[in-house]
Amino acid sequence: MTFDDLDLDPRVLSAVKETGYTEPTPIQAQAIPAIIQGRDVTGIAQTGTGKTAAFVLPMIHKLGQGRAKARMPRTLILEPTRELAAQVADNFEKYGVNHKLNMALLIGGVSFADQDKKLTAGVDVLIATPGRLMDHFERGRLLMTGVQMLVIDEADRMLDMGFIPDIEKICKLLPPRRQTLLFSATMPPEIAKLTKQFQNDPKQIEV
Ligand code: AMP
Repeated sequence: MTFDDLDLDPRVLSAVKETGYTEPTPIQAQAIPAIIQGRDVTGIAQTGTGKTAAFVLPMIHKLGQGRAKARMPRTLILEPTRELAAQVADNFEKYGVNHKLNMALLIGGVSFADQDKKLTAGVDVLIATPGRLMDHFERGRLLMTGVQMLVIDEADRMLDMGFIPDIEKICKLLPPRRQTLLFSATMPPEIAKLTKQFQNDPKQIEV
């Protein structure tokens, strides 16, 4: 299989080709068509399997052009650490070079004012750590009602870091009609419970 077989937007394909990749990894080959179809996906995959592009590519494909309203992000990606959030942002930049998508990174250690300015401008792709996201929400600077896609990445690390209560809170603030993607290297009972509670008939992919 090649990337050409995945029915991705030609602009996404050309960005992928620019990176030099020709063949999707197993998680990409299975997840990308399911995500394009609109299905929820539970991906059991370690870092290094290409799982980031497995959700970034179909998300860009589905977002198309940037058209977010102020304070109403269209998609939300939750990451356990600032470093991972920054890596995912780099991926959106790399694969989204041919799209005009607005992106914001809500992570600790950076000024609220700069992050708030981005939220006001309208954000297609919001990448956040749970604590900082809730801080903005509780200040009344963020509306979750426009989120069409949610990614919970590195769910088992979120569990280790005590973020599950925040994630449950966030999920309850999002519209029930949305697509939810969850990635985790392992599937402890707490994460299995999270998928049951917040995913709708997810396609399970294990690599
Ligand atoms: P990840 O598992 O998302 O952390 O990705 C691991 C590494 O694999 C990253 O450096 C990616 O740039 C790279 N990668 C992602 N997709 C592919 C692919 N289809 N072919 C070769 N390398 C890839």
